[in-house]
Amino acid sequence: MSSTVAAISTPNAAGGIGIVKISGPDAISVAERVFSPAGSRTLSELPGFHAAFGSVVSGDSVLDQCIAIVYRAPKSYTGEDVVELQCHGGLTLMQLVLRLVLAAGAEPAGPGEFTKRAFLNGKLDLSEAESVMDLIGAHGEQAVSAAVHALEGSLSREIRGCADTLVAESAHIAAWVDYPDEDVEPLDRAELAGNLKNVAAKLEALTEKFDAGQAVTAGVETVIAGRPNVGKSTLMNLLLGRNRSIVTAVAGTTRDVIEETARIGNVVLRLSDTAGLHDSDDPVESIGIEMAHRKLDRAAIILAVFDGNEPLNDEDRQILEACKGRHSIAIINKTDLGTVVPEDAVAGSVSRVLSLSAKDPSCYDQLVVVLEDLLGTADFDPSAAMLANERQLACVNRSLSCIRDAVSALENGLTLDTVGLSTEAAIEPLLELTGERVSDTVMEQVFERFCVGK
Ligand code: GDP
Repeated sequence: MSSTVAAISTPNAAGGIGIVKISGPDAISVAERVFSPAGSRTLSELPGFHAAFGSVVSGDSVLDQCIAIVYRAPKSYTGEDVVELQCHGGLTLMQLVLRLVLAAGAEPAGPGEFTKRAFLNGKLDLSEAESVMDLIGAHGEQAVSAAVHALEGSLSREIRGCADTLVAESAHIAAWVDYPDEDVEPLDRAELAGNLKNVAAKLEALTEKFDAGQAVTAGVETVIAGRPNVGKSTLMNLLLGRNRSIVTAVAGTTRDVIEETARIGNVVLRLSDTAGLHDSDDPVESIGIEMAHRKLDRAAIILAVFDGNEPLNDEDRQILEACKGRHSIAIINKTDLGTVVPEDAVAGSVSRVLSLSAKDPSCYDQLVVVLEDLLGTADFDPSAAMLANERQLACVNRSLSCIRDAVSALENGLTLDTVGLSTEAAIEPLLELTGERVSDTVMEQVFERFCVGK
């Protein structure tokens, strides 16, 4: 990649400092065209990791005072020559500085282009690059910690370890099959099956932790559902710790879907408080109810709220039906008024049952315990290897399926050729995960979600 690119790397807002980053073979000469040092040394004379104080100049006029930091390839974020111009962080000022830098010969950097260059120059693997974006978008300490550990290679090491074992086994099978007369170590089918099962167990552990990891980092789509007036908005407010949803004694107050993100213990819930589910003649309310049904179908967790003070009716039973086979918590509400709904009446349809009063703030802790238990996040370890997104999960699942084919071929007495083919096929998806063998399309998809300037 021979072009030199530039972008504003600080947020699109006024701040104490704003940074224009320039990366590529001409980064230093481009920066020199816009930067006039206060001292005697030019940027070309500076070694890497050195800074110079000076001015950003446009012709004869000074645009801003600034500090230029020089990084020399390969010791920079991108692995290329990099100059960072640290100016005063005014929005217009930053745009003017960037415009000067572009006029001096740099091209505008695309989304995630600096990180993409870091990946292409071998500074990061693909899963580590993805964790850069996770780190920027992380909500909460646990999510930050998980992203930093991924950036430091916790997942990459685990995946490489698995890939290395598969490569070694695959090579052994090929040598044993193709060169039986050579001095190749005899191949023990049971031992091979054991080694493949070990790799499968490591990959399975990663897939099993995926939902919990997502709940802590990206958050889980959660819908609060129930018929009108059972206390859905009150529950939403309990979870958010403030009055976001309008709570009234008039049925049908929440006419559309109210969405918020809340951290509950370790878990990030992307909450939707929906219109009460019931038959309505009101055309506006009906649209809200239709939206509520769609949310209910798509949610990863359903918080199904019931009025503990009234016997279950047909509408409640329809909601229970929708909970079957899903991650769902039945909340029998208004227990402060007494309850006529026994937990047994709903337990068969949902994953967990909780009787509480959403009006009572102390019930929040009960919800935390049940949610963490349901999602397996209570003992979440952010330093452990963890799959960060669906792309990584799909790679691991593809690899697992090939390993299982190899093990079953071994156990059913099929030829070692067949076993070898499946073992080899299991390597490819793992290399795709780390980016060692990845198509341009997949790579573009990964960097598409980055912001410009990272
Ligand atoms: P929604 O229509 O399901 O969103 O219900 P709301 O949250 O608007 O609540 C309906 C009514 O029930 C309001 O008057 C709330 O104050 C009341 N309510 C909600 N939760 C409780 C509770 O735990 N105990 C009591 N006594 N009243 C509650």
